[in-house]
Amino acid sequence: MAPATDAAVGRDGSAMVGGRRFRWSALAVLGVLFGATAFSGLVPGRPPTVVAACPVAGAVDVVLDPGHGGVDPGALNEPFGLVEKELTLAVAEQAAAILRARGHAVALTRTDGDTGLGNSERGAIANACGARAFVSIHFNSFDDPVVNYTKSFWGVRAKDQAFSRVMDATLFAALQPGTDLADGGVEEFESGALLRATMPSTLVETVFLSNPDEAARLANPDGARLARIAAAIAAGVEAWLAGS
Ligand SMILES: [Zn+2]
Repeated sequence: MAPATDAAVGRDGSAMVGGRRFRWSALAVLGVLFGATAFSGLVPGRPPTVVAACPVAGAVDVVLDPGHGGVDPGALNEPFGLVEKELTLAVAEQAAAILRARGHAVALTRTDGDTGLGNSERGAIANACGARAFVSIHFNSFDDPVVNYTKSFWGVRAKDQAFSRVMDATLFAALQPGTDLADGGVEEFESGALLRATMPSTLVETVFLSNPDEAARLANPDGARLARIAAAIAAGVEAWLAGS
């Protein structure tokens, strides 16, 4: 269930909280019970207030965000048994382990498959951590199974564009050898997570799980493809941190 602070305001003046519709009278009672500040975002015409806490204590170098989660599985490739929310978590955990072993402080926005997060909440967690960089990790999918490329998205601010270029170049160089993978470059994308996060931020669409050759690599029990993707993300983040 989504936290109340991630609520959206419905057209009729009631508010959507965790998928259920409450009347303002009910919200008033809740406001008294839990404190008005928690619901301060529920004002028509204003974006919802997002309150987030950093999951780790102390200074954080990078927040890694495993895309999707909870009731949102992300993209699927059923013949290969691939579920995006599981792949993103596996890669984020491996990348975090690599970066921690090299002395970097890392926080993840979620560490299990059941947690669902709003897009803005993901960026808000990175802000709460005071992170130097934020990476939202995804796997791409398309109707045409031939398509397979790396791509990194940046928000509307220049701080994200340079970081996205570093991440895309690192992912492509690490993942292309021996494959038909193309380089999709970088593109602007007004993601809630990228817009909310105040530090250099990027959303990486690593590879296409809809491409059969790529899907076979991702589904291979040896885990080599996922490990390579994780190592590439860690290398890109480390290169960025070293130069920023
Ligand atoms: Zn995704």
